[in-house]
Amino acid sequence: MPRIEIALSTIQHNARVLCELYGKQGISLMGVSKAVLGEPLIAEAMIRGGVKFIADSRLENIQRMKKARTPAQFVLLRTALSQAESVVKDVDISLNTEIETLNKLNYYASLHNKIHQIILMVEMGDLREGIPVDEIFLFIKKILCLAHLKIIGLGCNLACYGGIKPDEQKMQQLSALTNAIEQKFDLNLSITSGGNSANYEWYKSTKQVGRINNLRIGESILLGRETVNRQAIPQLDTNAFKLIAEVIESKVKPSLPFGEIGQDAFGNIPRFKDRGMHQRAIIALGKQDALISGLSPDRDLEILGSSSDHMVIDSKNFDLKVGVGVNFNLDYGSLLTAMTSPFIKKQFIN
Ligand SMILES: *Cc1c(COP(=O)(O)O)cnc(C)c1O
Repeated sequence: MPRIEIALSTIQHNARVLCELYGKQGISLMGVSKAVLGEPLIAEAMIRGGVKFIADSRLENIQRMKKARTPAQFVLLRTALSQAESVVKDVDISLNTEIETLNKLNYYASLHNKIHQIILMVEMGDLREGIPVDEIFLFIKKILCLAHLKIIGLGCNLACYGGIKPDEQKMQQLSALTNAIEQKFDLNLSITSGGNSANYEWYKSTKQVGRINNLRIGESILLGRETVNRQAIPQLDTNAFKLIAEVIESKVKPSLPFGEIGQDAFGNIPRFKDRGMHQRAIIALGKQDALISGLSPDRDLEILGSSSDHMVIDSKNFDLKVGVGVNFNLDYGSLLTAMTSPFIKKQFIN
């Protein structure tokens, strides 16, 4: 301990259900592995569940999976100019928004005698990555002469930075743009990637998916939820991951610190509610291991706070003995950090 238990069969099940659901209207899925540090066994569970591609924002994660011989086409979600040569060597498809970066990719693709496939991301209001719609025609004109790049599609990303929902209007706009670009440049765009785990509501309510034929899905496969309202998706399992950490102190103490109040370990001046004397426990898990605010104990315990290496909980009526494990469910942020922590063991079950 601490350890994270990972149910591979649950991840495979979630991927399977989502591939079937989205597949009904011709939408293929990229399984997104960035929240799990590109863990090859998890990517492989997604592939057994039917995803066509594995997508990650980190080149290093893709390299890790390639080294493990994960059998997939790899998609890089975030492309940096400084990594252009490795991108061309290790990645099948990259998402792009900058001419300079594409020039570099083309240069290295030519050097290594390759054709590198690209998806152009379009800015549709969330204000993270994307080429503004009114610049995209000129943009494409500039890159069509790059002989070692092949534009295979368009994409957009919503509900990540600005919290903008992928709705009918946005999806229709992206579809129309795909059609317009194909016509104007006599291109065949085989992929229109409409978004991520936030696209579930749109998909359930739309009558026409239009040209949208791909989504890049991480959280729904891993945690069983859509991400506009964080509702569980029917038939999916939300418990693929469980974090278990050890009780290292268990005592009755006052609920109010005593002495003169100054700053805590992170520069905040803490405030506490007086609940009298109560049963408290310390868990050997801290901010260095995982985002504590995204953890929820699997029974009626309350997290009171944490420092780098200690979590303080109100253990209520549970008699938590020193040495026992306490289980937590994780949200996306906690999963991301826990999977990245070298202190948390990764244990695969089934
Ligand atoms: C992280 C990411 C995704 C996956 O998002 P989820 O909400 O986990 O489905 C999709 N596309 C891009 C560009 C991303 O960065």
